[in-house]
Amino acid sequence: MNLILLGAPGAGKGTQAFELSKILQIPHISTGDIFRDNIKRNTELGAIANSYISKGELVPDEITIGIVRDRLSQADCDKGFILDGFPRSIPQAEALERMLGESGRKIDWIINIVVDDDIIVERLSYRRVCPACGDTYHLKFNPAEGNMCKCGSQLVQRNDDRADVIRHRIEEYHKTTEPLVEFYRHRGKLLNVRSENSISESLQNTLYALGLKGI
Ligand code: AMP
Repeated sequence: MNLILLGAPGAGKGTQAFELSKILQIPHISTGDIFRDNIKRNTELGAIANSYISKGELVPDEITIGIVRDRLSQADCDKGFILDGFPRSIPQAEALERMLGESGRKIDWIINIVVDDDIIVERLSYRRVCPACGDTYHLKFNPAEGNMCKCGSQLVQRNDDRADVIRHRIEEYHKTTEPLVEFYRHRGKLLNVRSENSISESLQNTLYALGLKGI
């Protein structure tokens, strides 16, 4: 199954993609994770990406599309994939259709994770992440003892989870990414899933929408 997870920052795309990837046994491809990995390894791509990410701006389409093209050409994507955080603009979505078409593939479903803006701000500002294993916590709803991850590493706040940057990311989402909801609605493959409560409830909503209830 070839899936896209669409939704505002903090909607829970990463968490759902992680779980779906285990259930469906297909790779989870997060452009945000690829950028963060490059930033950590001090690569040239990481330096470029960081100059946008730290301000809450989107990394230019040419760069992002190239990364996804490379990743989707790898053999583990032959049996399916979950895109988390890509596409984030109409040009990215059009490029994705072209690149999949070239290899005789298509997207099966787009899961649009719907959450109100005030919940997003709450989730992002209280989010803490593990730089080692990538696990995420919430200071109020899923706190970690002594600010330490279960894997033993000290949790950190993502640079782009600061209040001023969060505001900018949400604006970017409404301006550039949200038009994708209409784009995919026209293609008749959009599944809207609400994600305001617990992670397990949101995941159940997604599995239900995909016709996989009971897994
Ligand atoms: P995420 O982890 O998905 O929230 O992504 C973190 C940041 O990486 C975003 O706020 C963007 O700056 C950048 N980014 C991730 N995916 C994309 C994309 N598809 N297009 C442009 N920028 C992206």
